[in-house]
Amino acid sequence: MYSDNHRARKRFGQNFLHDPLIIQRIVDVIKPQKTDHIIEIGPGKGALTKPILNCVARLEAIEIDQDLIVALSENQRHDNRLLIHQADVLKFRFDSLQHNDLRIVGNLPYNISTPVLFHLLTYRDCIKDMMLMLQKEVAERISASSGSKQYGRLSIMLQYYFDVDLMFVIKPEAFTPSPKVDSALVRLTPLHHPRYELLDHDSLKVIVKAAFSQRRKTIRNALKKHIATVTIERIGINAESRAENLNIADFVKLANCYHQLQTNMLSN
Ligand code: SAM
Repeated sequence: MYSDNHRARKRFGQNFLHDPLIIQRIVDVIKPQKTDHIIEIGPGKGALTKPILNCVARLEAIEIDQDLIVALSENQRHDNRLLIHQADVLKFRFDSLQHNDLRIVGNLPYNISTPVLFHLLTYRDCIKDMMLMLQKEVAERISASSGSKQYGRLSIMLQYYFDVDLMFVIKPEAFTPSPKVDSALVRLTPLHHPRYELLDHDSLKVIVKAAFSQRRKTIRNALKKHIATVTIERIGINAESRAENLNIADFVKLANCYHQLQTNMLSN
């Protein structure tokens, strides 16, 4: 399945998996079933594509690099189960696939992994689950709890909507070329019922972004332009806390409060 004369392109974050044991371990976690609607982001030379194709009736992939698409399509020309979209995943409309049970898999290009996660978040309603390989540091940020130094925007925005499991760590030697950092496989499963009632997604985005824009600031200072200190205290949050010490329930409270203030302002 490999096109060996392809030179890895740094701008596309190309680090190709070559370790058969690791590849099998990832596929075992994915557990592809025949009728699954699996979408692979960045199939590259097909390290994960081929073993997944062995299990499913159809697989769609999104790849930006035309040269890799040509090689992969050539390799699979007798196999009409694979459909490759030549596209930038950051612009790809997952709702255009017309399924609400997409299983997203991929060894993500590390240079754009955070924007890809935020892009996928907007399609959460059509996603059944996601198994994504990321830099270990990003995986730790997604799964971090309040109080830790990795806890931040990514942890809150993803944990509000998904159950997050850091499955296992993968060493650089499993890839060609080897990245400089460890990687980790993360499973994200959308929650059917959110843990807390959120009135407005965009308000959560605004509040979390402002709260973490300067981590060392107190919430009182960081949210000065959004919510008055007395109001923060009134909803039961210590305004002297720092963002990293507030849990997701606290952020939802702040977001709901901010949303109500905005709505009242508009209706006055
Ligand atoms: N899945 C292969 C593997 O595990 O060996 C390749 C993984 S490599 C880390 C990332 C892949 O994503 C490459 O094939 C790269 O060309 C592709 N890619 C990079 N940026 C992309 C983008 N914006 N949209 C779609 N694919 C992209």
